[in-house]
Amino acid sequence: FDTTIPALKITQLTKTYPNGFAALKGIDLTVPQGGFFALLGPNGAGKSTTIGIISSLFKPTSGSVEIFGVDLLKQPAKAKQFLGVVPQEFNFMQFEKVEDILIAQAGYFGIPTKEARPRAEKLLKALGLWEKRDDKARMLSGGMKRRLMIARALMHRPKLLILDEPTAGVDIELRRSMWDFMQQINTEEGTTIILTTHYLEEAEQLCKNIAILDQGEIRINTDMKSLLTSLDVESFVFDLAQPY
Ligand code: ADP
Ligand code: MG
Repeated sequence: FDTTIPALKITQLTKTYPNGFAALKGIDLTVPQGGFFALLGPNGAGKSTTIGIISSLFKPTSGSVEIFGVDLLKQPAKAKQFLGVVPQEFNFMQFEKVEDILIAQAGYFGIPTKEARPRAEKLLKALGLWEKRDDKARMLSGGMKRRLMIARALMHRPKLLILDEPTAGVDIELRRSMWDFMQQINTEEGTTIILTTHYLEEAEQLCKNIAILDQGEIRINTDMKSLLTSLDVESFVFDLAQPY
């Protein structure tokens, strides 16, 4: 596999919603393979719009998205094999059982149940959900539902995992354990990870590279070290890091 191909390459991406609102105004973003990348931005910046396009929930107005060199708009099925997405909103079947949700997900990718079971077991144990495997999803706490979506996104061993504010509303202890888990997936499975967040602290802990999105435009795209040593940027960034 050619390691020089970026995991994600977004070129001049725009999205104008049907009501005329321009949520993305031409963004460029390249994330190399193996990276752990943060897309930081305040509410309404366009983070979920970007992820919605990458997940094929809706089409961009213009521009292109390549996932491991595969054009998402031209070869969506092929591009999706590489991709696992954890959306901001819960979107699983509330009345399904936890383990069944994971087995079904693997099925969408043509993975037989026999192979899916040990994968589900590994992920459920790593995410502290193994005891809950026979519970209906709706019985889980918010933090558990979030972790269930992470497990589901990883069932087919995607090469790129994208998480939309995975730790929003999660208490600090659980947040730390989710950070550990994401780091483990990044290093042990070599999965490229992109997360959106508005916690600067989170981006700082985890990510080597960062882009700041604001009002549909990329304002800053740099490595974490230069970001934190640049005074100009700091004042801007701390505005974003307010708790919510
Ligand atoms: P973020 O995830 O960074 O908080 P979003 O991508 O969800 O931001 O939203 C970006 C902007 O687009 C916001 O101003 C939001 O109100 C607007 N928006 C999102 N979805 C729609 C929609 N379906 N129609 C019109 N405007 C939308
Ligand atoms: Mg969002």
